[in-house]
Formats: sequence, C-alpha cells, structure tokens
Amino acid sequence: MASRIATHEVLNQSPPYEDVDLFASDTPLQEAVRANGVDEAAALSEFGRHWGAADMFHQARLANQNEPKLETFDAKGFRRDIVEFHPAYHAFMAESVGAGLHVMTWNRAGSPAGPPSEVARAARYYMVAQVENGHMCPITMTRASVGALNVEPKVLARLMPKIFSRQYDARFLPWWEKSGITLGMGMTEKQGGTDVRANSTRAEPAGGDYRITGHKWFMSAPMCDVFLVLAQAPGGLTCFAMPRFTPDGNVNGLRLQRLKDKLGNRSNASSEVEFVDAFAWRVGEEGRGVRTIIEMVQLTRLDCAIASAGLMRMALAQAVHHTRHRTVFQKRLADQPMMRALTADMALELEGTVALVMRLARAFDLAPRDRNEAARARLLTPAVKYWICKTAPAFIYEAMECLGGNGYVEEGMLARLYREAPVNAIWEGSGNVMCLDVVRALGREADETRGVLAALACADLPGMRDAAALVAATLAAPDAESHARAAVEQLAVMAAAAALAESAPAQIAELFATTRLPRRRGATYGTAHLDGDAMSLLLSRALAG
Ligand SMILES: Cc1cc2nc3c(=O)[nH]c(=O)nc-3n(C[C@H](O)[C@H](O)[C@H](O)COP(=O)(O)OP(=O)(O)OC[C@H]3O[C@@H](n4cnc5c(N)ncnc54)[C@H](O)[C@@H]3O)c2cc1C
Repeated sequence: MASRIATHEVLNQSPPYEDVDLFASDTPLQEAVRANGVDEAAALSEFGRHWGAADMFHQARLANQNEPKLETFDAKGFRRDIVEFHPAYHAFMAESVGAGLHVMTWNRAGSPAGPPSEVARAARYYMVAQVENGHMCPITMTRASVGALNVEPKVLARLMPKIFSRQYDARFLPWWEKSGITLGMGMTEKQGGTDVRANSTRAEPAGGDYRITGHKWFMSAPMCDVFLVLAQAPGGLTCFAMPRFTPDGNVNGLRLQRLKDKLGNRSNASSEVEFVDAFAWRVGEEGRGVRTIIEMVQLTRLDCAIASAGLMRMALAQAVHHTRHRTVFQKRLADQPMMRALTADMALELEGTVALVMRLARAFDLAPRDRNEAARARLLTPAVKYWICKTAPAFIYEAMECLGGNGYVEEGMLARLYREAPVNAIWEGSGNVMCLDVVRALGREADETRGVLAALACADLPGMRDAAALVAATLAAPDAESHARAAVEQLAVMAAAAALAESAPAQIAELFATTRLPRRRGATYGTAHLDGDAMSLLLSRALAG
C-alpha cells in the first residue's frame, strides 16, 4: 500500500487491522465454541463483525485516552461523589449490556440459564475483550454478583428484574427508578485484600437492615448501582448489598475519596471509598461472608481468564496481520523462518488457551447437574486463571515486538493491551493465592478433584500420565506450597492439552502436548521446535484471510 505525501511515498506499512470478523477469522475459537455445545456460528460471526469494525477500535482508543473523572463536590461545595466517563465508555456499556453479557447466564429469576449459555457468553466476552477491556469490569461483576445474591432470595427478587434488563441506564438515580442496573463489589481494604478476614469495616444492625462504617481501598466501577461488600457484623465477617441510594431516595453514605491512577484499565474507574453510616441489606448469614462472596469470585475468575485470552488473541492477530504485510530484506516478515517459528509457537499457545477457557466455561454450564464437572470447575478455575493471566503479559509483549517500533506507540493497540494485561492476574486472587486455592481444593475436596486429574490423564496425548502423576504428588506433599507454582502451571497446561483433544484436530493437540508436557521450550516464544508443516498449519488457522 503506497500513499504520496509532500516529501516521500509511504511504503511497506501494514494496513490497519480493522473491519474484521473476530469470529470467522479465528478457526480455534470456532472449533472450541462448537465442541463445547454452541452452534450459532452466524450470530457469533455477526457479533464478531460488529465488534471488529473500525469505529469500535476508534471508540476504544477514545474511552482509554479520556479517563474518568471524579466529581467529589459541586461548585457550591455540596458533595456529589460521582464519576464522569467519556461517551465512548457509555457506548461500550450500552453495547455489552444490550448483548446481555452481564446476565445471559441467568434466567429471569436468577437461576442458571443452563447450557450452553456460559460458552455462548464466553465466546462473546472473548471477542469484546479484544477491543475494550475497562468497561468489562462492571459487566463481569454484575453477572457474577447474581451468584452471591442467590443465597438471599429477598434481595435477589428485589434487584433481579433490574439486573435482567438489557438497557444500560447511566443516570445517577435510585436503582428502582432506572431501566437497568449494574453491580460492583468491595472487599479489599488498606490492610488486606487477600486476607479479607482482616476487614475492619463494621456493620451494625438497624431496623432489620444494617448501617456500615469503614472503607474499601479498591472499589472499581463506582457508578454501579449496588455493591456487594464485606463487613464485620456482630456475628462475624458478612456479605452485604449496599445501594448508592437509601430506600427513602437519598444518596447513600458512599464517599468516593479518590480514583486510582492505574497502569492500564484506564477507561474504567477504580475508587477508594469511605462508608459513612451507609445503608445495606445483609446477603447470607452473619459470619458467612467469605462463603457467600466466593460464589461471585469463581465467576469473576473465569472472566479474568477469558479476558486475558482475548487480549492475547488481539495481540496475535495484530502480529500475524502485520508480518503478512511487512517486507524486510526483500522477504515478507511472515516468510522469514524465525518470525514464522515465533508466531507459530504463539499461535499454538493461543490454541491451548482458547480451547481451555471454552472447556472451562462448559464445566460451569454443566456443574449444576454434574458433580464431575462441578469438581472440574472448582479445581481448574484457579489454575486456569493463574496460567492464562500470567502468560498474557509476556505473550503480548512478544506480539508487540513483531510490529517493531510501531508496536510500542500509543496509536497502535499493542501498548494498551500490554498495560491492560497484568490486572487480571492481580485482582480476584493474585497468582500465589490461585495456587494456594488449587492446593486447598486437592486437600479438602480430595476425591472429586483427584477424579479431575485422573480424567485429564486419560486424554490420549504424550506426557499426560507423567504430568498428572507429578502434579498429584507435588500438590499432596507436605511442602506443596513451596512447589505449587510449577505444579499448577503444569495442571493448567494438561487441561489445555485435554481441551484441545476435545475440540481441535488431533495434530494440534499432539503438537501442544509434545512441546509443553513436560516443558520442552525455552523461556520465550519461538523456541518450540515446530517443523515447517506444523508452522504453516498453525499460522493458517490463527488468522484466516
Ligand atoms: C485495577 C484494580 C481494580 C480492583 N478492583 C477491585 C474491586 O473492585 N473490589 C475489590 O474488592 N478489590 C479490587 N481490587 C483489589 C484486588 O482484588 C487486590 O489488590 C488483590 O486481591 C490483592 O490484595 P492486596 O492488594 O491487598 O495484596 P496482598 O493481599 O497484600 O497480596 C500481595 C501479594 O502477596 C501474595 N500472597 C498473599 N497471600 C500469600 C500467601 N499465603 N503465600 C504466598 N503469597 C501470598 C499475593 O498473591 C500477592 O501477590 C482491584 C485491584 C486492581 C489493581
């Protein structure tokens, strides 16, 4: 593509990667979705074209360049405690709420919608994550909150009709006056995020409900209408639903102190908040706060993994697209042997990643009626979150380098993807905490979770049995915590290989297993020793067209 400007012709730059079909161009995604029970290729392709439009990419840039602003006071000194977002952020919220990403896995009453809603949503979520991530935070929290609200039918029945709506209503009004609402959550305090039992925020019973005083050090998407928060009630740490307005229509006592100045996730606001005698409903019994909120946390962890996989996908698509159009030393980059080895190895990693997240979403679909699938979701969710969210930053960085200097500048998308990636590992249980959770699951729910390991080992792939034996032995040893990272990574890789065996051509699953079980690659991509045919296959599957 050449364009004449005053001093020279612009040559050898790749055309923008936009106006693409994020579904039809992605063979591994299509296969993983189909294998996990979703047969709606035409609808997903329409969704993929819509989200892959040039204007969506443009709006995503605007939403992230124009960060949300906290309006603590008005001009006369009255408290406002609101956050103003760029219109592009609201446009994305309207899109995702309109598509039902905040609720499509639930029915009107708040029970699971049933298969294949988790996979159908995961496929869409994966595509949205390729374009704009900040707004997905409240989308994720809203859908996940229903899991926790299920323990308190009265509160669920009150809020569910508004959650179920597919209309995004950004107005700062009491929840019952709005056409649709979103939910956030606040657990992390200054003295502890992992150790929520150390929460100092207090809840006092008041006329059947509660009044809460204290703080949260991180509370994202503070313009949500209701927040699930943890606080110390007389009976111990308890979960509460705290609306932005009290039942008499006054603004509730949530004082937004400051917005975090974050590495990435810029379109989304993350606040520090103080609760001043704030009204709240109890959700679940007093003293059962962690047990209650964990219903939400498993779902948000799944979304962290899908979102990171989506970031990886966009990074790889940009890299493969660029190398197909850029010539260096009289040869397309895509034909340079080392670049082929690099992008093919990355494509193979993503094959395993997308198969894995879709298979995990399937486990969530089947869990309510199938104990084995419930155990699979229980054991693998922290392992998958750990592996994918940890893999994403290095993967995106490698993709960035494929674009050379263009990868590093803000007009391109790679810089934003790179800054976005670490947050998924940090929130909702940081890396070590995910590994501890796997160790806990294998200890406390030993029969079920060992059954998952045994089932994975049965996949007819090289290295699986040895890997499963090693994982089981390591995680059962008295010093399991010290070696948990290696074992949990291996567990996730095994699960990815097994997922590929169910969804991808046998050759792909074999390639994945032989290059990764045990790890035969170096620390960077492009070191997997793939032969020329394998590279061609992987690269043609990675980006159609
Ligand atoms: C952008 C962003 C948005 C967020 N939004 C929200 C939100 O909306 N609501 C909310 O409640 N929180 C939110 N958080 C907070 C987030 O969930 C916490 O930061 C996270 O849970 C970690 O808690 P912490 O920061 O207190 O770190 P700590 O708990 O102090 O942990 C520090 C490190 O120690 C490790 N660690 C902890 N325990 C162990 C152990 N036993 N052995 C070995 N290592 C261990 C952890 O893995 C971590 O790496 C957000 C964070 C970010 C960055």
